Amino acid sequence: MKEWLYQLLSPDFNVCRSPRSYNSQVGVPLSVWLTNPHNDLAIIEAGISQSGEMARLERIVKPTIGVMTNLGVAHQENFMSYDIKCAEKMLLFKGCQTVVINSEDATIQKCADTLPENVRRVKLQVRQVEKNNDHATIHFEYGGQVGQYTIPFIDDASIENSITCFSTALLVFSDDIHVLCERMSRLEQVAMRLEVKDGKNGCTLINDSYNSDVQSLDIALDFMSRRPETKKQHRTLILSDILQSGEAPKSLYSRVAQMAVSRGIEKVIGVGEELTACADYFPMEHYMFRTTDALIRSQVFEQLRNEFILVKGARRFHFDKVSDLLTLKVHQTILEVNLNALVNNVRYYRRFMKPETKMVCMVKASGYGVGSLETSKTLQDNGVDYLAVAVADEGADLREAGITANIMIMNPETTSFKMLFDYSLEPEVFSFDLLEQLIYAAEKEGITNFPIHIKLDTGMHRLGFNPVEDMPRLIERLRRQTALVPCSVFSHFVGSDGDEFDTFSRRQFELYDRASRQLQEAYPHKIIRHICNSAGIEHFPEYHLDMVRLGLGLYGINARNNHILNNVATLKTTILQIRDVPKGDSIGYSRRTVLERDSRIAAIPIGYADGLNRHLGNRGCYCLVNGQKADYVGNICMDVCMIDVTDIDCQEGDTVEIFGDHLPVTVLSDALGTIPYEVLTGISNRVQRIYIQE
Ligand SMILES: *Cc1c(COP(=O)(O)O)cnc(C)c1O
Repeated sequence: MKEWLYQLLSPDFNVCRSPRSYNSQVGVPLSVWLTNPHNDLAIIEAGISQSGEMARLERIVKPTIGVMTNLGVAHQENFMSYDIKCAEKMLLFKGCQTVVINSEDATIQKCADTLPENVRRVKLQVRQVEKNNDHATIHFEYGGQVGQYTIPFIDDASIENSITCFSTALLVFSDDIHVLCERMSRLEQVAMRLEVKDGKNGCTLINDSYNSDVQSLDIALDFMSRRPETKKQHRTLILSDILQSGEAPKSLYSRVAQMAVSRGIEKVIGVGEELTACADYFPMEHYMFRTTDALIRSQVFEQLRNEFILVKGARRFHFDKVSDLLTLKVHQTILEVNLNALVNNVRYYRRFMKPETKMVCMVKASGYGVGSLETSKTLQDNGVDYLAVAVADEGADLREAGITANIMIMNPETTSFKMLFDYSLEPEVFSFDLLEQLIYAAEKEGITNFPIHIKLDTGMHRLGFNPVEDMPRLIERLRRQTALVPCSVFSHFVGSDGDEFDTFSRRQFELYDRASRQLQEAYPHKIIRHICNSAGIEHFPEYHLDMVRLGLGLYGINARNNHILNNVATLKTTILQIRDVPKGDSIGYSRRTVLERDSRIAAIPIGYADGLNRHLGNRGCYCLVNGQKADYVGNICMDVCMIDVTDIDCQEGDTVEIFGDHLPVTVLSDALGTIPYEVLTGISNRVQRIYIQE
């Protein structure tokens, strides 16, 4: 809504808006700070997670127009009821001249009734909503007149948001309703994501070629400066003229230049008349071009090497061409990783937990295949208590990349003890042998009180101390040294994902409970107790104890019912070639699929070397092409496989979804008779991971 309002109003007004989702107790003040004397309007987003917060925000924002968006259920856990949350939100509007609300929502209407008399209520009556193929028409009545507008979206959320945006925009320029209707028809999908991609010639790319204004430039520069790549690569900014800033070029571009300096930009490549005229403001290496084509044809463009490049341009400059040319296209198969979904999954599990319960996020096996560095960074930014990886090398990589959160090592190997100490990686200790070696290594280094995590085997029979027989000796040995200190004690459920194992799980817990208490009694400091994995978090709230360990759930997969919550990973590729093959011909090696009708067969660049299991071939499963199911036909080859697109309207170059947002990874794991963990962790390293974040 905020971005749409911006699209509607920015052609006529100089509009400042909250960046991204800066709507919290911290985000709102930061947004307000961004306003400057040139702005005609500020669109400030405000959200609350607890009662009492809105009153504070009201004093900071003091809005003249109040807009209530769809109320939603976020943070509902902290409010007694939906009504109370609504009433709390309404506090923001008590000093407004006008409010825009959805009066069809009885709760909102009731709350709005409590606003002071002099607050004007706008009435836009929606008569009818017509949905067509690719657009919706909204018929309305406003101030005694009837009219209609069209939007290029048909989903309900977009329609509802459009009504609120339209009503709000009407307040600001009520004279010309036709202009507004025209703009409604051109509303664009909001691209709030900053993508990081591998570029050609060793470059890394942040593609933000959708808009250019000073605020979003600042955000993108900030995002860039926090990326690990900046350690190794020089920072380059490719920027177009900034349109409709309302500011004189001189002050605008000297401000932009300052920003670039403060974020460590070493090279600026500008496109546009204004930038060309203002080249001298940029103290670093700079090159200016009048047009995008001139840039693309230049030596400067040709010679970009090992740089970390932010591409930022107003739509009119078609910088998508620039980023397309810079993007590396070796293998068109990618694993797209949605970091926002990851955060939402953490929030989902948090809802089952007491606020004081800690959480370990399992990023072992390269973050269940999606990559541990990006996920760890995101989790660290969201205040996770612990990260857990399988081996010390993975932990050291995270430290090298700037991860400072606590890191637990699940399988410390004998060779890596020095690495544990050097990088402050906390090992899990599961046997006397390992314990002795660790004590020896730590004492040799003169280390004291190094945190370790004691693992008990309560039924898995994999790794761990025996919770009955080993306890006295373990406690005695630990007490007799000062090199190591037990920081936590844990065990692992064998079957928290199935009701049929409940009796066994409870027995595991009892064993664990007794042994862990014994250990605690031997120490004056608090020893963290934890036993639940993802499935356990949902199923055994009474066993959360001090901490839980979230693994599969982080990636959106519910191990209990195989449903996908917020999908994190999408494996995609593109069609290389399509051919017609007559009935009776066979496809692929060993003639395993013989066609029963005349068919159209597409080849896609993904094979078992990418982690696509051979058992999916010969109609063992399907992928999605333009939303429709296409069977794998023939044996899956090493780098390529074939799919049946006979009934699908598609062409070469079209995207194919192997699994992801529209095809749950569990469809593949079910077809293979395995678990989603195996499919995810099996995606090979050569598949490029692309991370997206709002
Ligand atoms: C992998 C792992 C987890 C996470 O399990 P999920 O089922 O993925 O939630 C928890 N604890 C231990 C010890 C693990 O090895």
